[in-house]
Parts: sequence; structure tokens; C-alpha cells
Amino acid sequence: MEPMTLTADPVIGTLARSEPLTWLRTGLPPIAGAFAETGLDPTLITDAAARLRRFAPWFAEAFPETRAAGGIVESGLAEAAGLRALGNARLGAHLRGRLLLKRDDALPVSGSIKARGGFHEVLEFAEAVAREASLDAEDPRTYGSRSFRDAARTYSVVVGSTGNLGMSIGILSAALGFSVTVHMSADAREWKKALLRERGVEVVEHRGPFDEAVAAGRAAAGDDPRVHFVDDESSVSLFAGYATAAARLRAQLEERGVRIDARHPLVVHLPCGVGGGPGGVTYGLKREFGDSVRCVFAEPVRSPAMALGVRSGLHSDICVQDIGLSGLTAADGLAVSRPSRFIGERLAPMIDGFATVGDAVMQAGVAVLEEAEGIRIEPSAAAGLTLPWRMARAAEAGGLPASWNSPETVHLVWLTGGSMVPAEEMEAYLEQGRALAEEFTADAALFAE
Ligand SMILES: *Cc1c(COP(=O)(O)O)cnc(C)c1O
Repeated sequence: MEPMTLTADPVIGTLARSEPLTWLRTGLPPIAGAFAETGLDPTLITDAAARLRRFAPWFAEAFPETRAAGGIVESGLAEAAGLRALGNARLGAHLRGRLLLKRDDALPVSGSIKARGGFHEVLEFAEAVAREASLDAEDPRTYGSRSFRDAARTYSVVVGSTGNLGMSIGILSAALGFSVTVHMSADAREWKKALLRERGVEVVEHRGPFDEAVAAGRAAAGDDPRVHFVDDESSVSLFAGYATAAARLRAQLEERGVRIDARHPLVVHLPCGVGGGPGGVTYGLKREFGDSVRCVFAEPVRSPAMALGVRSGLHSDICVQDIGLSGLTAADGLAVSRPSRFIGERLAPMIDGFATVGDAVMQAGVAVLEEAEGIRIEPSAAAGLTLPWRMARAAEAGGLPASWNSPETVHLVWLTGGSMVPAEEMEAYLEQGRALAEEFTADAALFAE
């Protein structure tokens, strides 16, 4: 699309007016062809899963909270009967099937979905360092050894982040003995910076947005071979770590007797910032479930970077300021103006939809989820909470096929962060959310094509 005509497009026009939008791509071609188009080798998922298993004994030692799960960092899957009832009473539609929550808000060690991608990338780097030092990279005992730590000290890890990626990279790199620097954008919370500094991480504060923090990190890393830069805008290693969630989710669904197939579709609602987390999870889920899973990305109304990139076809060549948006949002983990350099370009044919959500809906969502389920999340993690009812409404009104809200349809809302939020901050989120409770609605313009 030509830049001049962008806002004439009804979807981009709605984005530009920062009005909530649900854009569903119900006519996507079957998934089989989409895998070839990505140019990605799916063995990257099994390789990443094997790496995480190799490190499990080290995790169980280094982070006792992972011991019960044998050193595997994974979150639970929960039935959300309370939220389902509350939504059915208040959101103007009746969700007919099951509602599940994926509890990445409670992922061990770093408390957000970033533990998936971030840990994987740091571990992959640790293996490279071990090999370079002629140590046995495949033996988990290597990573607790004196010789590994002596080597690790001479390498550093650098990352730019709005907060949660910095937490996952910082905590894990420090635990392995790397020196580590986190470049934080202006929206990063003070407590995240303080927590990292306590663990010996160097935190560099930037007054600019996310992409500036990333650029500063990239520049600081330069091309020094002893410095590893974790590039949230284009890392395949992060992507691979996120993608491992899918096979584990399949096992959790099977354990609960939840069946997913063409007649029992799974609709997954994923909060989206730069696109790496939801992109990786989507790639993994499409491998596991093919066309039986539908993945919808949820973004703030003022920073819909992925929706804009995919809709315009310009991907990372366009940012939300180009259509007059501020990029500012209370959902700090999603405060991203320009999307990933590879997710949209490669994975667009796999993403079933995009939704934008107002800040007040997310803020209210924090309080609503606490009321309905007793679960405490950060505002970013609330981006998907109302989306099942948007679809239920649209299906009731005939604007969407009935399969988006049938008794056989399973909606899964991915909760992406929260357990690390200090109690005082959480109280403030809850208080603010309760004051905004009226704003918790499923209202949005629907574009289905
Ligand atoms: C980072 C983050 C996301 C989105 O991940 P991206 O890779 O940036 O798209 C969602 N929720 C939370 C809480 C996050 O920290």
C-alpha cells in the first residue's frame, strides 16, 4: 500500500483513530503451505526443546523453585469458570465453549512469557561459550563448574527491553556468571531496574522508547565476539524458545481431556508487543494443531505495531507514529511502536487475527481477573481477556462463522506476566482497575474477511 492511501483502508483507519478493532482473517489459506513460506526450519523447535531438557538438572540446582518440575520452566493451564461466568454476565454475549487460561504470569524464575524465549537464547549462548572453552557443552554439570564460570566472566550479554525481557535475560545471565547489561526504555518500571541491579546486572536507562533502547544495546554490543546481543526485533533463538510452549500445551490439554481437532477448534488470544512471543507460540501451535488452532494477537490501541505492519505489508518499515499514534500505553510490556523485523514478514499467513484494546480495558481487566479468579497479573497480560466475547458477539450477530463460538470451541487466553510485580505495585494496579471496572467491555469494530 502507498503511505498516502494507508488510512483510507478501513482497518488502518480504525487503528489511526485508536478505536478498538477486531480484524479476523477467516479466509487464510490452509496452513500446510504457510510453513514453507516462512523459510524457517521447524527442527528449530525440537532443538530448543532438547536444549531446555539438557539444562533441566542445572535449573533444578540453580533455581530451587523449578525443582518440583524437574528443572523444566513451565506454567500451568487453568479452567476459568469464574471469568467465564463474569464475562457472560457483563460482556454482552454468551461464550458457549470452555475458557482456559495459560498461566505464564506465574512462570518460575522471571514471572513472564519472556522466560521462554529469553532463557533459551541465554542457554544457547552458554553452550557456545562452553564449547569455545573446550568444556562439555552437553553436560549440565559443566554450568556449575569453576572452569565454566571463569570463562563466562569474560563474556557479556546485552539486551534492550521495556522490562520483562531484561528481567529474563538479566536474571539468567547473572546466574550463569556472565556479565550482563540491560538497556531499559523510558516505560520500564522502577522496580524491574532495582531488582536487576540487586542481582548484579548493569542497567542503562534511556529516556526514549523501546526501539531506541534496543538500538542502544545493539550499538553498545558492536561486533565484539565476546559480547552477545539479544535482539528482540529479529532473534530466531528467542523465537525458538517461545515455540516450545506448544508441544507442552498439547500435553496439558490432553491431560485434561480437552480435545482439539477440526470440529473442536482452539482459539488462542496472545498479548503482542514486538511480535516475537506471540509469533513463536503461534508457529509452535500451528505445528501441533494445524488449521484447528486460531491465533489472535492483542495489542494496545495506541501501539498496534504488528497489526499495522501486517495490514500495510510494510512490516518493520512502518511504525505507529506514521499513522499519528503516540505509541504510549499503560501496558508497558506492549509499548512497542515498530514490529519485529521478521515475525510479520514470515509468519503473516499463520496469524488468524489482530485485536486492539484500550488501556482502560486492560487496567480494568487486572481487577476483573482478580475478582473472578483470584489471579493477579500486570496490565499487559490482560490484553486478551475480553476477546473471546468479542468473537462470541460477532458470531451471535452472524458476522463470524459459528465455529468461533460453538460449545466445542475452546478459547484460551494467554496470561503473559505478573508474579514478579511487587505487592505494593500490584495493589496500585488493582485499585486503579477497580475504579475503571465499568470500562471492561468487549466493544470493538469488527472486520472479518
Ligand atoms: C513482552 C511481553 C509480551 C509480548 O511479547 P512480544 O515478544 O514483545 O510480542 C506480552 N506480555 C508481556 C507481559 C510481555 O512482557
